[in-house]
Amino acid sequence: MNELQDLKALVTGGSRGIGAATAIALAERGADVALTYNNSADAAAKAVKEIEALGRRAFALEVDAADAVAVADGVQRAADQLGGLDILVNNAGVGAIGPITELTLADLDRVLAVNVRGVYAATQAAVPLLSDGGRVIHLGSCAAGRVTSPGMTLYAMSKAALVGLSKGLARELGSRGITSNVVQPGPIDTDMNPADGPFAAAQIGDLALDRFGKPAEVAAAIAFLAGPHGAYMTGTELTIDGGHTA
Ligand code: NDP
Repeated sequence: MNELQDLKALVTGGSRGIGAATAIALAERGADVALTYNNSADAAAKAVKEIEALGRRAFALEVDAADAVAVADGVQRAADQLGGLDILVNNAGVGAIGPITELTLADLDRVLAVNVRGVYAATQAAVPLLSDGGRVIHLGSCAAGRVTSPGMTLYAMSKAALVGLSKGLARELGSRGITSNVVQPGPIDTDMNPADGPFAAAQIGDLALDRFGKPAEVAAAIAFLAGPHGAYMTGTELTIDGGHTA
């Protein structure tokens, strides 16, 4: 399982959940990994240790995804420490639940700052550094394509923006052999959306499969897109949602 041997990857929000699972999945396949975190320094250090135990290099960088200047600096530092950049996984994200009449413009700004502006800033900084044949992978959501309950308007809007960003990038970067894709998970058991949380039963009721997904199941799809078998997939959405959209 060495299809990413010696490639260099940056995973934003790699301290917990899908991001941590992705950082480890990429390392398992041979990549060196830089990961960013905001609040969870201990969890980030744990992920670094797990990657080092796999025999790969790992770096944790404290970078607030809502701060575009810090994000650009973090991308540069990651590439410097790794000695290049082949794979960018834009994973850092925040949830937002509530009706449009209750969520404030401050909520709008906070969610867009992390879920959209931070992704744009990371990608903008990464593009000149990425190797030809590289990969940009964004964590969107199945809610970008189908919203099954009220209260998801802001979150769905933020994730739908990544589809446009990714398609545009695919056109911009195709001549360099760089692909850009959105991975769209359904309910995945993480701190953001725990399988025993208050909204879990309703989400499971909407799936073809009767369980939440695991972070490793999303990470495996990201690793596929990052690897040689994903070379001809670009500008598209890869849905891993237990049948949410079936
Ligand atoms: P978690 O809340 O479990 O983890 C979020 C990760 O993002 C953490 O590592 C966190 O770091 C990081 N993060 C959050 N805000 C910032 C910030 N301002 N700056 C830097 N890092 C930040 O989320 P998930 O693992 O569940 O989600 C990962 C991605 O997948 C998100 O984009 C999410 O929207 C998406 N997704 C998740 C689904 C689910 O059901 N879980 C479904 C569909 C999409 P720290 O703790 O250090 O702040």
